[in-house]
Amino acid sequence: MNPYGLAVKVMQSQNIFTIGGSLSANAHGRDIRYGSLIDTVKSFRLLKADGSIVTVTPKDDLFRAVIGGYGLFGVILDVTLELTDDELYVMQTETMNYSAYADYFTKHVKGNPDVRMHLARISTAKKGFLKDMYVTNYELADHQDQLSSYSDLKEDEYTGLTKFALGLSRRYEWGRHWLWNTQQSYFLSQNGTKISRNNVMRSESTFLEYENNDNTDVLQEYFVPVKEYASYIDDLRQTLSDEDLNLLNITIRYVQKNEKADLSYAKDDMFSLVLLINEGFSKEDQADTARIIRRMTDAAIKHGSSYYLPYMTYHTKA
Ligand SMILES: Cc1cc2nc3c(=O)[nH]c(=O)nc-3n(C[C@H](O)[C@H](O)[C@H](O)COP(=O)(O)OP(=O)(O)OC[C@H]3O[C@@H](n4cnc5c(N)ncnc54)[C@H](O)[C@@H]3O)c2cc1C
Repeated sequence: MNPYGLAVKVMQSQNIFTIGGSLSANAHGRDIRYGSLIDTVKSFRLLKADGSIVTVTPKDDLFRAVIGGYGLFGVILDVTLELTDDELYVMQTETMNYSAYADYFTKHVKGNPDVRMHLARISTAKKGFLKDMYVTNYELADHQDQLSSYSDLKEDEYTGLTKFALGLSRRYEWGRHWLWNTQQSYFLSQNGTKISRNNVMRSESTFLEYENNDNTDVLQEYFVPVKEYASYIDDLRQTLSDEDLNLLNITIRYVQKNEKADLSYAKDDMFSLVLLINEGFSKEDQADTARIIRRMTDAAIKHGSSYYLPYMTYHTKA
């Protein structure tokens, strides 16, 4: 339990990362109010190549270079972050068609001050492929005085089942269908469930751990302007219609426009789409995945999108 009742403003949904790595990517998360991690940094100390240690604050040029700068300017030693209160949320999930999502988000999520966090998924199963969605909002609960009953950090739940379903979905179309239905039913069954902010952001992601001699999972992430979302999804569906990509899952978060970092990915209010892809180890398989990822990247760029740099670098220099 966090005895101070405090929480970070921005972090990934998982707790498996270092602070230096998160600052170097300028991470973002489920919170829809605070943008990227850079917005919450008061200062950090940097060990430079010449051995000197400097304290960097938002008024220094190094600030915007180092955050989101992938370690190119030195080693981040420690950081002072703005914190916020831990809060009690109520989960609310609903299903919808992708064409309604941007409008729904603008009116009912951004437009509702009680919604603090948000996560969506779009189907990668054949039935409803890149059309069916479910969206989960974390809304401020009425009785914040109950927070202490929910603030003990929990272990990951249903890890074995999710791992099993993910395993099936790597190999079989029916497995992907089953994973989609199971996840969606689970989130729908959680409607009205209370959860603390710190528990939303603490998964150890053990369900993603996977070892195999022939293939592995990789991530790609595209940041798509909210207003371009539906037409981008149409293009993505078209791009993938003649490809054999083993696309397991897509999660969607929101990142508001933020150009404070030199390598900013959020040049507009964006939906970030994280794609979990299973790919073979052979040279041919990897070349094929790289080719498809470049096609997907071209489709994203056409819509004014950007892509995230921490993941496999399949992109061309251009
Ligand atoms: C399963 C999964 C889920 C993810 N979910 C999200 C998400 O929800 N939101 C999001 O924004 N990102 C997400 N990411 C991406 C993740 O935030 C970045 O990859 C992040 O950089 C990982 O931190 P790390 O500690 O593993 O860093 P590493 O992979 O070790 O390093 C990443 C970069 O940071 C640099 N670096 C590391 N430590 C320091 C330091 N002390 N000083 C200077 N540079 C340093 C490294 O040189 C490297 O360039 C996810 C990644 C995975 C694998």
